[in-house]
Amino acid sequence: MNDKQIALITGANRGIGMSILKTLLESEYIVIGTSRSEAGVKVINELIGGEDKGFGLVLDVKSQDDISKANKAIKEAYGSVSILVNNAGITMDNLLLRMSNEEWSDVIETNLNSVYKVTKEFIKDMMKLRFGRVINISSVVGLSGNAGQTNYSSTKAALYGFTKSLAKEVASRNITVNSISPGFIETDMTNKLKEEQKKALIDSIPLSRMGSTDELAKVVKFIASSDASYITGENINVNGGLYM
Ligand code: NAP
Repeated sequence: MNDKQIALITGANRGIGMSILKTLLESEYIVIGTSRSEAGVKVINELIGGEDKGFGLVLDVKSQDDISKANKAIKEAYGSVSILVNNAGITMDNLLLRMSNEEWSDVIETNLNSVYKVTKEFIKDMMKLRFGRVINISSVVGLSGNAGQTNYSSTKAALYGFTKSLAKEVASRNITVNSISPGFIETDMTNKLKEEQKKALIDSIPLSRMGSTDELAKVVKFIASSDASYITGENINVNGGLYM
C-alpha cells in the first residue's frame, strides 16, 4: 500500500477524461483510468508509464459487475479510491419526436444511472477514510437545455440534484461532492458537429472559441486538491461565458 491519494477517472482513454488523467498524474496521484475496450486500456497504460503510478482497467459504467471488479482490483493493488471523477458519457442526439426508446435509455443508463452505481461503490471506502472527493462531469446543456438533446440534457441536469443531495449526506465525513459543467470542448464528442454548427456555436461564445480539454482538467485538479476543501455541493461552469 502507498501514501499517495488514489484517483479513479471513468472514460480516460480519450477526450476530457484523458486530460484529467494526465493532469492528476502530474500532480502525484496514483491514477486509475477506465475504458470500455482493451485498446483504450493500452492507451491509458502507455500514458501512465508504469504500475507504480497507476493503471488502466476495462470498465463499462453500465455494468455493476465491472464496477465491483474494478474496486477489488484497485484495492488489491493500491488501496481505497479517495478521488472519483465520473466523466464517462455519451450523446445520442435526436429531436424528441424522432427519438427511439433505445436512444433515450442508453443515454440515461450511461450518463446518469452509472453515476449512481459507480459512486455508491466507491463512496463506502471514502466514508471509512473520512476523506473524499466526488467530481461529476455535467454539461452546460444541463443548465441551458439544447434542442435535439432531451435525453442528454436530462442526465446532465439530474447530476446537479445528485451532487447537492449527496454533498449533504457525506459532508460530515469530510467528503466533498461537486460538479463541473463544460461548455463546448474540443473532443470526439464535439467533432461530430458539422462545421456550420461549430461556427454558429463559436459565434455565441463570448470568448469566441471552444475550450481545450486541458482547461477543463485544471479545474478538476483544483477541486480534487486541498485548496478546494471548503467547496461542496457546488457546480463550476467552464464554458467561455456561453451560459452565465
Ligand atoms: P468523448 O471524447 O466522446 O469520450 C467519452 C469517454 O467516455 C470515452 O473514454 C469512452 O470510453 C467513455 N465511455 C462512453 N460510454 C462508456 C461506458 N458505457 N462505460 C465506460 N466508459 C464509457 O467525450 P468527452 O467530450 O471527453 O466527454 C467527457 C465528459 O464530458 C462526458 O460526460 C460529456 O458528457 C462531458 N461533456 C463534454 C463536453 C464537450 O464539449 N466535449 C461538453 C460538456 C460535457 P471508450 O472510448 O472506451 O468508449
